[in-house]
Amino acid sequence: MSSPLIPRLHGFGTTIFAEMSALALRTGAINLGQGFPDSDGPSAIKEAARAAIADGLNQYPPGRGLPVLRAAIADHQARHYGLDLDPDQQVLPTVGATEGIASSILALVEPGDEVVTFEPYYDSYTAMFALAGVAHRTCVLRAPEFAVDPDELRAAFSSRTKLVLLNTPHNPTGKVFSRDELQLIADLAQEHDAFVVTDEVYEHLTFDGSTHIPIATLPGMADRTLTIGSAGKTFSLTGWKVGWVTGPADLVQAALTVKQYLTFSGGGPFQAAVAEGLRLGQPLLDELHEAMDHRRHLMVEGLRQIGFDTWLPQGTYFAIGDARPLGWDDATDLCWQLPDLCGVVAIPVSGFHDDPSANASLLRFAFCKDEDKIREGLRRLQSLG
Ligand code: PMP
Ligand code: GLN
Repeated sequence: MSSPLIPRLHGFGTTIFAEMSALALRTGAINLGQGFPDSDGPSAIKEAARAAIADGLNQYPPGRGLPVLRAAIADHQARHYGLDLDPDQQVLPTVGATEGIASSILALVEPGDEVVTFEPYYDSYTAMFALAGVAHRTCVLRAPEFAVDPDELRAAFSSRTKLVLLNTPHNPTGKVFSRDELQLIADLAQEHDAFVVTDEVYEHLTFDGSTHIPIATLPGMADRTLTIGSAGKTFSLTGWKVGWVTGPADLVQAALTVKQYLTFSGGGPFQAAVAEGLRLGQPLLDELHEAMDHRRHLMVEGLRQIGFDTWLPQGTYFAIGDARPLGWDDATDLCWQLPDLCGVVAIPVSGFHDDPSANASLLRFAFCKDEDKIREGLRRLQSLG
């Protein structure tokens, strides 16, 4: 029998992350695929969630989010980036960044519009474009630099472009967009009078002095940009699904209109706990950052020794390995065989592309895992060399 799923969503069957985590479970392989940390976030934040539940914060939070969380997010954006936001109108907690992305896209584009984004891209973007019924055009980021090709980016814009979807620091490449690249995106968005939705869930995971610059801080951009963050990534609490959208009041209101019919609201006690986490501030972020940085080096040095071409990522918790020096041109093929070959799961970067032949030999390895697990994964991968 043919699938009852609407044709626009054909091809979106199961996410590559779920597929690869299921493969790891089925085969008992070490999961260096899906990006969730092995070690849970700070105990002070978990304690705050327990206290919120014990204190009876267990009914619907307001659709606009708990005031204490909105205030903490506004304060965070001011402290880190000098962005001045009214917590009552310019901040919207969401059910993970995923709902923030969905609400923003569904609120701002409709059939006939076009969206510009970068490839490889996080999978929920294109699923949402499909739900919204909009076409997307892309600028491809290619290994090893993953730099923006200005001509390719310009060519992706048209008179129909209504929205640019940006992700920096970038999953899966680990790239942090430079100020010049962001300025070009900003110029093109302004020239075409397009909105920008910017997914900045890895904002606190940048390394080696590379700086995360929110595009909303560039001249003229604050009024046309919705910025998305996630406590899941910031505090290693991915299962809590607390994210947020910030921006000008009219765009936030538009996202809220959609959000209230997706979930209305969610995660009451977790919202309160995340507010506490944001209040605890820098020492907490530094601690998490240091642990990730150590694992980043461990992973990349290990991959290099095995024989992958690899580069230290500037951001996120993902490292890329190019399998060509090991004799593999097709990373998808390799990823499906990897559990049998050596008991490891990784994600093929082609899963983040329209055209699976782009970046075809690249694998993504998550280093947000316990050090022992990374070491054992690397030990097993040595048999590829
Ligand atoms: N954006 C990117 C780039 C991601 O990697 C992820 C995965 N965590 C998300 C959004 C989704 O974030 P959340 O879990 O907060 O919904
Ligand atoms: N963001 C996570 C990753 O890139 C996956 C989240 C999910 O499974 N949807 O691995």
